[in-house]
Amino acid sequence: MIDEKVLRSALDASSEGVMIFATGSHGWECVYANPSSAMLFGFDRADILGPVDGASKLHGILLDKSLRSTIRQTLSTGESFRYTFEVGRLTGGTFWCEMNMSPLNDDGGNWTHTIMMAHDVSDTVRYARKIESKNRLLREQNSALENIASRDDLTGLYNRRHFDAELARMVGLHERLGFPLSIAFFDVDFFKKFNDSYGHQAGDDVLREIAMVLQDGFSRETDVVARYGGEEFVVLSIGESLVTTFYQHVDTVRDGIAALAIPHKSSSCASVVTISAGIYFGDLVTPGQPQSVIEAADRALYQAKHAGRNRVEISELVEVHLPVGPGYAIGG
Ligand code: GH3
Ligand code: MG
Ligand code: MG
Repeated sequence: MIDEKVLRSALDASSEGVMIFATGSHGWECVYANPSSAMLFGFDRADILGPVDGASKLHGILLDKSLRSTIRQTLSTGESFRYTFEVGRLTGGTFWCEMNMSPLNDDGGNWTHTIMMAHDVSDTVRYARKIESKNRLLREQNSALENIASRDDLTGLYNRRHFDAELARMVGLHERLGFPLSIAFFDVDFFKKFNDSYGHQAGDDVLREIAMVLQDGFSRETDVVARYGGEEFVVLSIGESLVTTFYQHVDTVRDGIAALAIPHKSSSCASVVTISAGIYFGDLVTPGQPQSVIEAADRALYQAKHAGRNRVEISELVEVHLPVGPGYAIGG
């Protein structure tokens, strides 16, 4: 059995701030505070003993009001309460305090006292915050770099590298959830002649304008618009359930590009810059090969070029039940 005096000396010598409160229905009363707790909170031990009421120096510095009932509730179930918070020191300044409160019961199991142990964790908190802010900066820099690496310099659309990754991701979603894949492959008509007539710089401007129309036309979160290369663009979507709806949408965007009314005097299909598109819609053409849907859309594009350009063709691999009406073009 350890002597009570020894216990008291041990508490007095502890580097941990220790305080003991008599915990009755009338309120809490501080009955012991060791030198470390006095140093920690900046009080005089003699000033602190007594009821923790409005007049006590402890009132307000240790616990904010909203916490008091949570603490009371936790301790009344026999559990300890641990809390890290910023405290105003009575002698000025603040510090981060890690506090642990535990209920002490009498022989009859009644909660009569509460022991509070506390220490300064300011260095740890400051260090954790520094690391967190460094990590945040790194995350921001990484995502900025990723964004740069996934974009096409000229148009700002996604580049082919990013598109291929998105294709793999969308194919994964398609296989799990069953949404059909919608692909449209676009190619500017007689673009070589445009460059020859108006210069490469003017050609670049056209690509930028076309990119904006495509981006505006396919702006759902289930759409990916990319510059596939040169004067070729691709749109991938899993948001469409009918090929006819997708076709109409692609055709509207094609129309929107013609409506930019950019003169193209050397085009053999129109007096303005136009674009042709090929569509594939449905499951993977070859299971396990995401690229197979691109090839199907590219073949449909080839049909659109042959059929006169400035038009949209649907891959012959797609079964289409067209509504009655003009304007639908199917390859094959
Ligand atoms: P088609 O209607 O059959 O597609 O004819 P086209 O002339 O568009 O096709 P072709 O493949 O013969 O020529 C593509 C042209 O696109 C040639 C190339 O100079 C031009 N081009 C590719 N990338 C760029 C670019 O970044 N800027 C500019 N200004 N032109 C580009
Ligand atoms: Mg081309
Ligand atoms: Mg072309």
